[in-house]
Amino acid sequence: MTIDIAETTSDASLTKSLERSAEIERQIAVDPSGFRILTGDRPTGRLHIGHYFGSLSNRVRLQGLGVTSFLLIADYQVIYDRDGVGELKDNVLNCLADYLAIGIDPAQTTIFAHSNVPALNQLVLPFLALTTDSELRRNPTVKDELASSNRPMSGLMLTFPVHQAADILFCKANLVPVGKDQLPHLELTRQIARRFDERYGRANPKQPVFPQADALLSEVPLLLGMDGSKMSKSKGNTIELGMDADTTAKLIKRAKTDADSHISYDPEARPEVSNLVLLAALCLGRSPEDVAEELGDAGGGGLKKLVTEAVNETFAPVRARRTELLADPGALWGILHEGNARANEVADATLKDVLTAMKMDY
Ligand code: ATP
Ligand code: MG
Repeated sequence: MTIDIAETTSDASLTKSLERSAEIERQIAVDPSGFRILTGDRPTGRLHIGHYFGSLSNRVRLQGLGVTSFLLIADYQVIYDRDGVGELKDNVLNCLADYLAIGIDPAQTTIFAHSNVPALNQLVLPFLALTTDSELRRNPTVKDELASSNRPMSGLMLTFPVHQAADILFCKANLVPVGKDQLPHLELTRQIARRFDERYGRANPKQPVFPQADALLSEVPLLLGMDGSKMSKSKGNTIELGMDADTTAKLIKRAKTDADSHISYDPEARPEVSNLVLLAALCLGRSPEDVAEELGDAGGGGLKKLVTEAVNETFAPVRARRTELLADPGALWGILHEGNARANEVADATLKDVLTAMKMDY
């Protein structure tokens, strides 16, 4: 579900969001206690190295800075755009193992499943009353789905931005790490929060029921899959976090490159070669230009050898840890149950605030 950013966010508002994000990063470094983050993933398949470099590693970084986070396993979102749930349980279990293996600490980050938090889902009803049909149809993800999917739009898909607002607001998160394509979604969440308070708000406007959530924008790399299109769970072109070294080597060996044996970093002109250079650079903590220069005339073979070594070395500890974790599924489910219990406490308290504001506190 990607969209053309130029359609949705003007340069001026993007610059403003980037400045705001830089300011928030400075505040976090001084005092992380004022921030609460919501992030999440759809358990539609196995998490891959694109997820790792594009978002998971940033979550671990923020956790390391001391920010409290809620991490949503968005199981209800699996059925937005497909008829069945697929290997849902297995995907959730693997997701849990991936999170812990990369360093998510359940003591600091509440990991929970959407479907197990009834009060969160109950927020969707009052929020739906604060949103119009045309606002939903203007939302980039919904618009994209309308334009590109050959499926009829479900009511669930149409109201996706409202569910997302409930995910963010149930825990009163005030910070959401996003890519720039997600800015319009967050704007709708802020509108819903504002409208709720305008319509039912507390007597003291300085104490709104819901915070205004900020985007935390960062320049994240977008990794392509081994076929040259965006690495995506549903495309079968991924290197999963949990794949073993041999499978990884085989996949990288089959990756698309081009006829020029001189390696350079030029994502526009040479997307496949540049993607491999970028992947090696991310693993090695170096710049892609530097990696390309060192490879020089090493050709596709030399490039793939370096990428394979770099990926396998970087993820070896993660893979070992996740194998250990998966040996005890009971412990992993236990962590989810604890997270669900904590999320339910928070959601129940928020729903109580909401019902009080709406005079439904019988
Ligand atoms: P699906 O095929 O079900 O859409 P996906 O693999 O595309 O799955 P999403 O769940 O759509 O993954 O992506 C969640 C988030 O993970 C994105 O918003 C983005 O931050 C990050 N992400 C996903 N794919 C990549 C990628 N190839 N490179 C970098 N980041 C990625
Ligand atoms: Mg996707």
